[in-house]
Amino acid sequence: MLAIVAALGALLGAAVLPCAPAQAQTTAALPFPPPVQERASVLNARLGLHPDKTRLVLELTDSVSFTVSVHGSPYRVVVDLPDVSWPGGNTVMAGKGVVARYRFEGRDGGASRLVVETDGPARVVESYLIPPRDGFKPRFVLDIARTTPAQFAASPPVAVTTGTASVSREAARPPARKDPIVPVAAALPPPVPPRAAPVPEKPMILVDPGHGGVDPGAVGVGGVYEKDITLAMARELKRQLEGSGRYRVRLTRDKDVFIRLRDRVAIAREVNADLFLSLHADSIGSANMRGLSIYTLSDRASDREAEMLAAKENRADALAGMDLSSENDLVASILIDLAQRDTMNHSKRFANMALEHLGREVKLIPNKPHRQAGFAVLTAPDMPSALVEMGYLSSPQDVSLLSKSAHREKLGRGMVRTIDAYFKWLTGAQKS
Ligand SMILES: [Zn+2]
Repeated sequence: MLAIVAALGALLGAAVLPCAPAQAQTTAALPFPPPVQERASVLNARLGLHPDKTRLVLELTDSVSFTVSVHGSPYRVVVDLPDVSWPGGNTVMAGKGVVARYRFEGRDGGASRLVVETDGPARVVESYLIPPRDGFKPRFVLDIARTTPAQFAASPPVAVTTGTASVSREAARPPARKDPIVPVAAALPPPVPPRAAPVPEKPMILVDPGHGGVDPGAVGVGGVYEKDITLAMARELKRQLEGSGRYRVRLTRDKDVFIRLRDRVAIAREVNADLFLSLHADSIGSANMRGLSIYTLSDRASDREAEMLAAKENRADALAGMDLSSENDLVASILIDLAQRDTMNHSKRFANMALEHLGREVKLIPNKPHRQAGFAVLTAPDMPSALVEMGYLSSPQDVSLLSKSAHREKLGRGMVRTIDAYFKWLTGAQKS
């Protein structure tokens, strides 16, 4: 079967590209020559679950050119790169979603290869490079989706896309679709037999207790601090999530310390969180207003109150003498990122599920319990994020509730149900 695929690939290649070696032609087809550069390194790799695909993101020190191809026996997606270093990349890394496992190989002749084994026939939805911008390094994005054996067999044996960082995502798309079929399969060595396969990882939930240290957050009725309420709830949620056996959990802080908003986002990216949940409790002028509300990121605030709340929460860093304008820049710039759009839709979906499940356990605010605004702490570009205002510290009743462990247990239960429903949606939708 492999021989037939390779031979067919060679035939097609010969028809399209007479007398040209496949790889040379691929490189020549690039719209721009790759820039001369130092050897690039992979800084970080993460897999993200999406309802219709699994996304692999490589964060790189420098932009690189790449070639993506799809293969069978075993089913895998291969990304060929120039000579790239990846400290620790030679071990087989655990998969998630469509991806069974993946590994990185240095190759002869100053080249590197990323082999992404899938759990069945798969197709590449899209692959592109996001140029470095606004403090983010270049990112290579590979979206893979399941396909049927029949569709896999019917599609060309090898589909190739190429790109470099000197081409914007939009500019890279049309040539990628028009690329001729190139017999990369003929150049591939026999597939490596599967090694000891690591079990797929449990989703990582990052729980972020708002404020801390010099920043007490809101000061409530009776002098209660928001930073203490959020930490107590974060610990309870961690206890319940870990108790379920279905998740890995990290807290951005487990003691009374100050952490900058951008560092909370950095921690989320460092641990490759699948979900980021920031816990808060607001305070306003009225003692009567009470209930829970949930917020997601948007470049346009849903209403004036949400906008003011975001401004208030974004001021956290100013309390420790940080320059606030940089947080506002962060919010403004990240929203241009196309990869963010997808993440924002997931965040909204999560928020809607949260209202459904939390609404059964605790009181929600009466008017529009899900709102959107530019929260600096929700700007991780590739993970769904939400901010929960668990209640109002200006309400004696909410303060009394949030100070009780029985109430935190109920709230935690609703959050675990929400998280269960969310990941069920993600993984369930992926399998269909
Ligand atoms: Zn807060």
